[in-house]
Amino acid sequence: MSVEIRDGRIHWIGPASQWQGSRATVRIVDGRARTLIPGLMDCHVHYSSPGGPDWIARFSDPLPEISTRAIELAEASLRSGVTTARDVGAPQGVSIRLAHMARAGEIKAPNIRAAGTWIAHRGTYVSFARHFGRAHELRDAIRMEIEEGAELIKVALSGWNEDARPKDAAEVPFNEKLLSVAVQEAHKAGFKIACHANDPASCRIAARAGVDSLEHGMFLEQGDLEAMVNNKTFLVPTMSVWDAMLYYAHAVDWPEARKKRAEDLRQGSRAAVTGAIRSGVQIALGTDAGGGAARHGRIAREAELMVECGLEPRDALIAATSTASKLIGEDERGTIEKGKIADLVLLDANPLENVGALRLIAAVFQGGRRVA
Ligand SMILES: [Zn+2]
Repeated sequence: MSVEIRDGRIHWIGPASQWQGSRATVRIVDGRARTLIPGLMDCHVHYSSPGGPDWIARFSDPLPEISTRAIELAEASLRSGVTTARDVGAPQGVSIRLAHMARAGEIKAPNIRAAGTWIAHRGTYVSFARHFGRAHELRDAIRMEIEEGAELIKVALSGWNEDARPKDAAEVPFNEKLLSVAVQEAHKAGFKIACHANDPASCRIAARAGVDSLEHGMFLEQGDLEAMVNNKTFLVPTMSVWDAMLYYAHAVDWPEARKKRAEDLRQGSRAAVTGAIRSGVQIALGTDAGGGAARHGRIAREAELMVECGLEPRDALIAATSTASKLIGEDERGTIEKGKIADLVLLDANPLENVGALRLIAAVFQGGRRVA
């Protein structure tokens, strides 16, 4: 099959023998014995951190360093075939500016949908999140994010930080009702809401509140998965997180407790993803590069982990393209169809035979322009 691109969009698809154009007037890219796929979409990245063994500390690096590094990391991501990405949390509006620069064509980067910073309950999660206590503060936090240019809301459900838990407080201070407030506020403004949930209590709450996507979900149980199907909540499993943690546990010689945490995440995650496949939860691919130990530019590894959990290579590819486009709200991207924006990746092998072929990038096109 051949594809003709005109003005940044897919103009024609068909066998080369039926093509009516003239070689003299177009640039030809040889795809013989190669495979053309839609541009990949990573639904969960953080370009403000490079990942690696001390990824959380990297979010607190000096702002000039974070900003310039984010540009490099976004380019690395693009070179690995990611033409669209959701940046789901960055300090000081870095990802929002990055998205603007990408859209203006000033940098080589994926098309980015950026959340501002993480919204979390006071006393939980990371110190550089935007914290709230009561429902009205939660609404204000969401409005403030939108005012500052966020195009996506990211809420982090998490247990109390050590010493912050008040007497008799629930394990996770968020509850379904409070999270519904966030969902309502985000949707009212026309924005999607992504929810970090990575312990059993958070998974239970996030699965039932009607968020657009549940991120990580390493401890989702059957009832949670059923609730997600009913609520049409996507799962973004980010298995690269524990995969990278297991690597660093060995390579950097982490303390035993951290190694055990990585192993627990692996077990919980694989069970959750297998259950999600069986239950019919919509799965969109996300690596959490930067936000966990996983580094940028390695989306192929996430697809491989999906296949290890029982997804067919074809379905892993769909999770990274058309399903991701539905979650992100990019209807003009995600498939190779006439009229769609020509975000395409040319591979040197067929990923339907071996999903690892996603590593063999021959060319990347964004809006019809070759960028890698
Ligand atoms: Zn993350």
